[in-house]
Amino acid sequence: MQLYLQLPAVGVREAFPNEDVCRERLIDVRWPAGPECPMCRSDDVGFLETRRSYHCRACLTQFTVGSHTIFHRSRFSLVSWFTTAGDIIADAAFDADVYRLTVSDIQSRLATSHPAANRMAEIIRRDLMTADDSLMARCICTNERPAPPDGIEESGRSHYTWLNGQIIAHHGGAEAVHSIRSRPSSETA
Ligand SMILES: [Zn+2]
Repeated sequence: MQLYLQLPAVGVREAFPNEDVCRERLIDVRWPAGPECPMCRSDDVGFLETRRSYHCRACLTQFTVGSHTIFHRSRFSLVSWFTTAGDIIADAAFDADVYRLTVSDIQSRLATSHPAANRMAEIIRRDLMTADDSLMARCICTNERPAPPDGIEESGRSHYTWLNGQIIAHHGGAEAVHSIRSRPSSETA
């Protein structure tokens, strides 16, 4: 998956180390022009610092930056979502015989149940498949997608083939796989 080349060079965990950083990133990505009510689209919105919640003065709806997104009412922290999505993107970039992220891996990292880990992985994978609309990808894929060399059409099939080659050339081999495998095996959110 070419999104791998767009992940932060320092790694998702390092780029988004805590809840405040993740929340700020989500706010920027979701509302580049400022907060907007998810129900009536009004931008006449107030913010309650203590509850980190917004309220719409037009329709009186209360909401958070995660409301009506894949993070809606999630029990998991944004850090957990961001890092798991990074792991899933890395997993998809490599052949299954080289590296395979399992639901059990996610379960142990998040210290959660198997069904909850599975559900999160499904939500992330479904979101990532929406390509340019993927909220998750727009949050954590902070690098520009590498442009193709001369003679290869941008976004064409050969561009993707070339990008896949870059994953192996730039990040592949035993070293990259080792760095993925040696990530912390458990994290408490
Ligand atoms: Zn409203």
